Amino acid sequence: MAYTILRGGRVLDIAAGTADFADILIEDDTIREIGLAGLAAPEDAAEISAARRLLHPGLVNAHTHGNGNLAKGMGDRWTLELLLTAAPWINDNRNAEDKYLSTQLGAVEMVLKGCTACYDLSFEWPAPSSEGLALAGKAYADVGMRAVVAPMVADRSFYEAIPGLHDALPLALRDKVATLRLPSAEATLAGIRTALREWRFDRGQVRPAVAPTIPHHCSDGFILGCAELAREFDVGLHSHVAESKVQAVAGIRLYGRSQTAHLDALGVLGPHFTVAHGVWLDEDDMARLGDHGASVAHNPGSNMRLGSGLADARAMLERRVNLGIGTDGANCADNQNMYEAMRLASFVSKVQGPDWRRWLMTREAALAATEGSARALGFGGRIGRLAPGYKADIVMLDLDHPNWLPFNDPVNQLVHTEDGTAVASVMIGGRLVVDNHKLLTVDLGRLRDRVAAARERLAAANIDNRRLYEALEPVVGSYCPGLALAPYHVHRYGARLE
Ligand SMILES: [Zn+2]
Repeated sequence: MAYTILRGGRVLDIAAGTADFADILIEDDTIREIGLAGLAAPEDAAEISAARRLLHPGLVNAHTHGNGNLAKGMGDRWTLELLLTAAPWINDNRNAEDKYLSTQLGAVEMVLKGCTACYDLSFEWPAPSSEGLALAGKAYADVGMRAVVAPMVADRSFYEAIPGLHDALPLALRDKVATLRLPSAEATLAGIRTALREWRFDRGQVRPAVAPTIPHHCSDGFILGCAELAREFDVGLHSHVAESKVQAVAGIRLYGRSQTAHLDALGVLGPHFTVAHGVWLDEDDMARLGDHGASVAHNPGSNMRLGSGLADARAMLERRVNLGIGTDGANCADNQNMYEAMRLASFVSKVQGPDWRRWLMTREAALAATEGSARALGFGGRIGRLAPGYKADIVMLDLDHPNWLPFNDPVNQLVHTEDGTAVASVMIGGRLVVDNHKLLTVDLGRLRDRVAAARERLAAANIDNRRLYEALEPVVGSYCPGLALAPYHVHRYGARLE
């Protein structure tokens, strides 16, 4: 038994809106007791001073993509559909080193910015591999971060998935995109099964899940296969649902009903199911998710960055949807800053209407980014709160930083003021990963050199993929916005095309 005691800090209780002075006793990786200054501790307890620190539960990123970190800043005016068009350019030709580095780079950024766990929809072009997933898992384990790593998969290419897009392409480009076809559903499902069976990480720290990427990029049989694997291995299921209007319209065209109604009819919704984005959910969709105990990973930064729209978090909460908050991948975020994600979740809620009573409160945004996200990850009741029995995933903010001068309100300032620059130390599972601004688990200089070398190599290896993107951009970039011009009402009438 190893004990640690954090003395002299202010301990944030998000729900209560308080940050009273208290000591925290940690046994191994778990919080045992929180009590008044001078709390009794075993003699051999390691003592850490938390004086002038605000202690808050580690933020939990409900939606990201580890593969995106080597692609940050590669695009500017990208819709979701242009980002998907760029996928071979920004993801292809990755070797084992690249796969590990991209994930590790994101993990490093997250812990330095107060995030201690994430749900990573890890993408390998053209299909996931046991080796690639193990490299992603190792990247998190090496940084000392918690994660859910879900292979992001499909059995239809983007050009097969968007109604009419293939036929809109000039003949020469049709031949080119034919090479982007994905492996068969059977082959991909068999690969995921192997990866799940061979998973070698402690599931309390790094666990697997399954991510059929976007419903209409997957045949129904493939979605059911993914759901079956999730059930068999008792892991989560995560999909991008109603992210862009193009997706929502494509869903209606293909299914004659919303994507969510279709998933419900397939029987795959449940407490283990997480919808990423949900910008274009209608009220019935939200009620379906809420009734099934499902989660939405709300990614306001990505939604604005890709022009996807503004998700209605208040309407989701009203229908008992479990709300988590994420950054999305660095290829469309373009950072991994959960303070920013919380702040944007608050702001996005506030621009949707004049009735301020429907706006998200900072408390709600902070709860979503901690307990709500934790539940989406399958870590509900174990992380996301500073309380006895919870894992000791604790961020220590410097109260002498300008962000906290003066100290007016801990939750308002956490969500609306803090930007990650006051993060002093980060503990995950009772282990200090960041100590007074210094990352203890990864050599940042070596990471920098390896990332620079990977960038050089990938830029050269993906020149043809970049040219293909440039040829496709005008076609996809005009066809898809045209599809999105279809009148599509989500709030007043339920999802339907007119
Ligand atoms: Zn995503």
